[in-house]
Amino acid sequence: MLLGSFPRFRTYSRVGTYGRVAGEALLLRTASGDDLQRFEEAVKARTGARFALCMPQARVGIYLAIKALIQPGRKVILSPYTIYDVVNMVICAGGVPLFADVDRETCNVDPRAVLDLLDGQTGAVFVTHLHGLAMDLEELAAACRARNVPLIEDAAQAFGARVRGRWAGTIGDAGIYSFGLYKNINAFYGGMVVTPRQDLRDRLAREMAQAPIQPLWPLLRKVGYGLFTEALTWPPVFRTTAFHVFRQAYLHDIEWLNRRVREENNPQAKQQLPAYYLRRMRPVQARLALQGLDRVEPDFQTRLGFARLYHQGLSDIGDLILPPFREDGSHVYIQYPAQCADRKALVKHMMRRGCDVAVQHMRNCADLDCFAAYRRECPNARDTARQVFILPTYAKYRQRDVERNIDAIRSFFKR
Ligand SMILES: *Cc1c(COP(=O)(O)O)cnc(C)c1O
Repeated sequence: MLLGSFPRFRTYSRVGTYGRVAGEALLLRTASGDDLQRFEEAVKARTGARFALCMPQARVGIYLAIKALIQPGRKVILSPYTIYDVVNMVICAGGVPLFADVDRETCNVDPRAVLDLLDGQTGAVFVTHLHGLAMDLEELAAACRARNVPLIEDAAQAFGARVRGRWAGTIGDAGIYSFGLYKNINAFYGGMVVTPRQDLRDRLAREMAQAPIQPLWPLLRKVGYGLFTEALTWPPVFRTTAFHVFRQAYLHDIEWLNRRVREENNPQAKQQLPAYYLRRMRPVQARLALQGLDRVEPDFQTRLGFARLYHQGLSDIGDLILPPFREDGSHVYIQYPAQCADRKALVKHMMRRGCDVAVQHMRNCADLDCFAAYRRECPNARDTARQVFILPTYAKYRQRDVERNIDAIRSFFKR
């Protein structure tokens, strides 16, 4: 029988993560300790940020930062190729999303497209460092400063990336990190805002002080879901069993099953922040995140090695668009996003050969019906959203499976 590759995704949780949560929950200790402050201090020390504040989720940090930095009704220029709930945060914060097209190679917003849209109505520029490929913001930051327009960085996927020695997230007026289940530090929920601005820090600290603490049960449910994910993606189980289920589902377009492994299924617009978003992080989460900090650099080195192999193995294939390969620390390759005009046929071909890969689930938000009021022609984002598939790079992945993916892709184009 065909043995599947390692799964497309595994969490960055560590040995002891689940035991720690269970133990603290049993001893009623999940809410005690000053570890939020310790985590904030640790992130400040590492990133060079002046201020850092824990958030219940990155998106809440995005919402609070935009709300604090713009006048209601002002335009917020951003990439349409992102998680739709990020666009919701702009709307909930009183901003009017103005989509700027992306760059095909990096999948990040094109700085020239942003500069073209900057005008007297601009409330903020919001950039996303997608897939861990941090943007060089020097020119854009200077243009924003010259016009007194705040620059906000979504570094949810780029914790650890440095551009010219400065951490992604610390270049603009505010930077946002995520410590959700799918990120390179997993606290099951969680995020952080870093900022050089005292006024912003004080305002966010006031908002957070008024918020109730993240309740235990929803958190434990998320941890339970994490444990389930862990079991399903544990290689001995995955390669012999789960892979074959997902493979059949994908090869035969069994939609109800495909939906289960896809996020972003039903994009919906929000006008108001759901009340349960505004919570303080629970100290047990900060303890998990603190443990994850020391792995950020070695895990990045592992991913960089995988990205190098993909780059070397695929860059001569003219029908693929690959991300730039940079070894200067600016690209931390949380994933390796490649693009192919017929990605569905390619992914099916890879699945048939035992590779577990997936198409990128994110949409071009400038085309979504739920954001029709903000629709804008962004042809690059449209093509990107149709063509990106994700090659795994996570730190527990194996070189052998990177090579298997490369072979499968090469055989697809040789047919
Ligand atoms: C994960 C992610 C977010 C949201 O993070 P949460 O902590 O889940 O709110 C925002 N932007 C990007 C690019 C992300 O990948």
